[in-house]
Amino acid sequence: MRYASHSPDFPYDLSTMCYLEVAADGTVQSPPPDGVAGRVRSGDSRLYAVWPGKYRSDLFLIDDVDDYEKALGIQHDPVRTGLEDHEHRISWQLSADERNPGATYVFVDTTLDCGCEIKDLKAFARQAREQQLGWDVATTGGVSTSIRFGADGTRQGLTYTLRVRRKSLD
Ligand SMILES: [Zn+2]
Repeated sequence: MRYASHSPDFPYDLSTMCYLEVAADGTVQSPPPDGVAGRVRSGDSRLYAVWPGKYRSDLFLIDDVDDYEKALGIQHDPVRTGLEDHEHRISWQLSADERNPGATYVFVDTTLDCGCEIKDLKAFARQAREQQLGWDVATTGGVSTSIRFGADGTRQGLTYTLRVRRKSLD
């Protein structure tokens, strides 16, 4: 048996990852119903993952359910994501490079005035959707950043160029 915690950067959120919950009485459920981490912590269940590879698949025991929950966004992780669990203070404007402002998704230059950093775009997208902002941020294609300088030439922080669904900007 291999342990997920022994694999650095175990890809918990890989779309092809198959999770299995095995209860103490031998019942197997896949995907595991909500609350699996709690049942693992109390010793009522074990959680396994089948990580599919090209030539073979490997079975892992998910021995750190905190990692599992953080990676899947069930538990917020400010260190890994760079994002506090709060309403972000955001300034934004349509990107100067945006040539097609009528498109479904537009480029938006975004700064986080609250001091957060976007280290995990999916986590930011999840927050942006749920927060007052209400943005629908595209999570494919990555995100480009540029350093912003003040009028006196001092470094002020990062500007992220995000793709945001135009309708969600209103
Ligand atoms: Zn913030």
